[in-house]
Amino acid sequence: MTPLIFVTGGVVSSLGKGIAAASLASILEARGLKVTMMKLDPYINVDPGTMSPFQHGEVYVTDDGAETDLDLGHYERFVHTRLSRKNSVTTGRIYENVIRKERRGDYLGATVQVIPHITDEIRRCIDEATEGFDVALVEIGGTVGDIESLPFLEAIRQVRTERGPEKALFMHLTLVPFIAAAGELKTKPTQHSVKELRSIGIQPDVLLCRSEQAIPDSERRKISLFTNVSERAVISVPDVEVLYRVPMGLHAQGLDEIVVNQLKLTDKAGPADLSEWESVLDAALHPLDEVTIAVVGKYVDHQDAYKSVGEALKHGGLRQRTRVNLKWLEAQELEESGLAGLEGVDGILVPGGFGDRGFEGKVLTSQYAREHSVPYFGICYGMQAAVVDFARHVAGLEGANSTENDRQSPNPVIGLITEWRTASGDVEKRDEKSDLGGTMRLGLQEQRLKPGTLAHELYGKDVVAERHRHRYEFNNRYRTQLEDAGLVIAGKSMDDTLVEVVELPRDKHPWFLACQAHPEFLSTPRGGHPLFIGFIRAAREKKAGGKLLKEARA
Ligand code: GLN
Repeated sequence: MTPLIFVTGGVVSSLGKGIAAASLASILEARGLKVTMMKLDPYINVDPGTMSPFQHGEVYVTDDGAETDLDLGHYERFVHTRLSRKNSVTTGRIYENVIRKERRGDYLGATVQVIPHITDEIRRCIDEATEGFDVALVEIGGTVGDIESLPFLEAIRQVRTERGPEKALFMHLTLVPFIAAAGELKTKPTQHSVKELRSIGIQPDVLLCRSEQAIPDSERRKISLFTNVSERAVISVPDVEVLYRVPMGLHAQGLDEIVVNQLKLTDKAGPADLSEWESVLDAALHPLDEVTIAVVGKYVDHQDAYKSVGEALKHGGLRQRTRVNLKWLEAQELEESGLAGLEGVDGILVPGGFGDRGFEGKVLTSQYAREHSVPYFGICYGMQAAVVDFARHVAGLEGANSTENDRQSPNPVIGLITEWRTASGDVEKRDEKSDLGGTMRLGLQEQRLKPGTLAHELYGKDVVAERHRHRYEFNNRYRTQLEDAGLVIAGKSMDDTLVEVVELPRDKHPWFLACQAHPEFLSTPRGGHPLFIGFIRAAREKKAGGKLLKEARA
């Protein structure tokens, strides 16, 4: 039985429960433990794949193609363990499983109920995701008191009752607000939130108290008294200017030690080696250079919609001690009011997206970057926009478009595989069973890079794997025409049938690369990602007036 740390949230949402949990996980990993993480989400959607990024932020994709909550992105950025669909479970998924079993007759005529059938299924999913690890963190989405999260809380209560405190630890994240008018920190919301938890049978072992400033000992003592949590387990988690400070802050207060002791992991856990995190923090706090990158998307008022892209850009900077300032621009606004917002930026990134709103703005953006020699990084829809621009304005293919936006386009340079198959039949050799036509291409897939290209140089490899999430593809019928016009096809799927990376030749443009996959999902603060690192380096070079930064190239 893997010892489990259950992480609940109280008072309000958006306190950074995922970050706090991931930070603790990273310390436990730095102590030599094999750690995994999972998220239990109380909403009824079977997965977040269909949810609007406006409401729920980015859909994060795992290697196995699961469309998951953005917290899984935090987890993978903080720990080395790669996650899968097992690590993201929603109420919808639980009910789907239970109803399938009921229809199959698995319950042998029993009345199927929340307790025990739903709670048993939740527990089965937890065991399935956490098996074989030294320790696992299980985050419960939402806030205590929500109707939706009750079955999850009941399930974890049962686990603790059956397995005891050495196999299940409760960690509760709450808010300790500062009331400016009174000049005081208020502990009452935390008291109430813990009371609520205790009323359903959960007594937290650890409290993580979010606040603007560090919480003084006197207040920690008071919280301890009212909540029955030992004083040293009342941990202060103040706002930080840089995310990567959180693991160090938790470690300094002995959180990992409390956990290791309670879960009897002392034999397995060594001292915490946080040196990698310290150097990440150092690079973030003491940059030597800075660049401004425009990100042109559809949901720019909701930056969580592009969480991994924003993070990956910053990671790319960290690797070269460069602060990356992000300038979020709304693609549709660029269409309507012009491209002035792009002037003066050091690089332009167009991220993934769906639907026609703002697509023309993305095409204009790509054209601007191409014509003005501004480093351009297109991701997924951002690549498709770049191909459309190139087709229209360089190859002279009138009305070129993606069939996602114009089904009647005379030159559908981007389309569903099924569409260009019927037109030419030139993908016949692709596996018919792959069913890529109407459905998403999802998850980790390998691609082969062409030697001599920018992509090949940056990755330093012939074959790389990236995560995908899209339906439409570069239309092979236009390969020759576009290549003849000067587009470089730098990466293709292993069976040679799908275009994965396009570039402009390096004598025509300093840095113009666009890929069909989503490299942002594989970038981490400690490692960065070769494409993002290369892009930020190119932005620095542009800022330095085009002079190659020899030391950075090395
Ligand atoms: N809408 C495009 C497609 O489905 C791009 C998707 C994306 O950017 N993730 O192919």
